[in-house]
Amino acid sequence: MRTCHDSPSPKQTKTITPKKVVQNTKRRVSSSSNVPKKKFKCDECGKKFVTRKSMLQHSRVHSDVREFECVWCGMQFKWRSNLLRHMKNHSLDKKHKCHKCGKGFSRKSHLAQHFSIHHPGMKKRL
Ligand SMILES: [Zn+2]
Ligand SMILES: [Zn+2]
Ligand SMILES: [Zn+2]
Repeated sequence: MRTCHDSPSPKQTKTITPKKVVQNTKRRVSSSSNVPKKKFKCDECGKKFVTRKSMLQHSRVHSDVREFECVWCGMQFKWRSNLLRHMKNHSLDKKHKCHKCGKGFSRKSHLAQHFSIHHPGMKKRL
């Protein structure tokens, strides 16, 4: 018995939708040491940091942005800790406090002056 179908019939192949080529973008960081890699570099001074946060925090030393302002004298500081330390000096001698805004003055006359300027129209209650 002979079958005449000895040649393989062309298989109907399903059209394969091309899969998205997933590129391995995450390169394995093979560090030989256990020391965490400081991959965040300060553009200004080249100092390196482990985390981006610490780098950004550091980068403020190079900027002139002083976001902390002393309410007593208007002096400005880059660091909150510096401002707080500075303000402690004020609290020592500013015993005349404005009851309206809390500002303190070493002299009563200064407080009176402040009051007339900043809180005009208000009755003085010194
Ligand atoms: Zn720096
Ligand atoms: Zn001050
Ligand atoms: Zn005031």
